[in-house]
Amino acid sequence: QAKKLGRNRVEFFTPQLQSDLHAERRLADELRLAPMLRQIEPFYQIQVNAQTRHIVGLEALARWRHPVRGLLSPVAFLKVADEYGVTAEIDAAVLKRALADRAAWVSRGLSPPRIAVNISGRRLADPDLIDGLRALRIPRGAIAFELVETIFLDEPDEVVLANIAAIKAMGIDIEIDDFGSGHASLIGLVKLKPKRLKIDRQLVTAVTVSEEQRRLVGSIVEIARALNVEVVAEGVETEDHARVLAEVGCDELQGYAIGYPSCESETAALLKSAEASTAS
Ligand code: C2E
Ligand code: MG
Ligand code: MG
Ligand code: MG
Repeated sequence: QAKKLGRNRVEFFTPQLQSDLHAERRLADELRLAPMLRQIEPFYQIQVNAQTRHIVGLEALARWRHPVRGLLSPVAFLKVADEYGVTAEIDAAVLKRALADRAAWVSRGLSPPRIAVNISGRRLADPDLIDGLRALRIPRGAIAFELVETIFLDEPDEVVLANIAAIKAMGIDIEIDDFGSGHASLIGLVKLKPKRLKIDRQLVTAVTVSEEQRRLVGSIVEIARALNVEVVAEGVETEDHARVLAEVGCDELQGYAIGYPSCESETAALLKSAEASTAS
């Protein structure tokens, strides 16, 4: 906490600060063990085709089933994970569980759509990433990686670029997450050639606010089209948002208006009923 106050200020180490730091350390220690104890699990949020509303994807979102604190969302632990260098392990645990869930769904006769998994900059810069992924024998088209704009903003390093190329070659889609929320990075977009981009929730929920905001999102769609990139709107909260986003040409929709993130068993039930209704 003292860090936030800046370099040039003297902070007295009060009992309050000391216990905050202590609590944070303890959380980090617990977090380090969490993947091994199978306390990290993905929740899944559906993504649908904007026109047909059929399920086309799932985003896997990390949840920490803490033995005492209950189910924790990533906002409660990702900052600590990053500070203590455990983010890559969390990412790996989520991917592994997502693949296991997917395999279980397939063995029960379901045809799961692609699963988008968030990947941190740290993991993307790991020289051992690709060997680790190969060992998982990921079926082509089964997985997409969502990465945030900022990762490749400043001159991306050699390892990151080589990893991205290898990931694509393995049949894993690259998606840009939270597009429009960081620094605009059209150069990055051209360099990276992602399969799709996800327009940030702030831009998405603004489409019903003004004609200008609506045109802005429409223009992002056009830029994506010019580059052969598909567009997903994230954070779609109302039916009005969904309608306007479909009108301006977004390919896919994700958000509370479409479905809330849910656990493995609820997701399996959802996939089952969706398959039953499209088959009939
Ligand atoms: P994100 O990748 O942009 O994921 C979308 C977040 O917005 C999720 O929060 C989701 O529950 C929430 N959301 C979905 N629809 C709506 C909506 O209509 N309205 C609103 N207000 N929110 C909505 P969540 O699960 O708390 O995740 C927060 C962030 O944590 C994610 O943002 C992602 O950046 C990060 N994250 C989640 N799982 C992982 C992971 O496994 N690895 C890494 N590195 N980051 C992760
Ligand atoms: Mg994401
Ligand atoms: Mg996102
Ligand atoms: Mg977001």
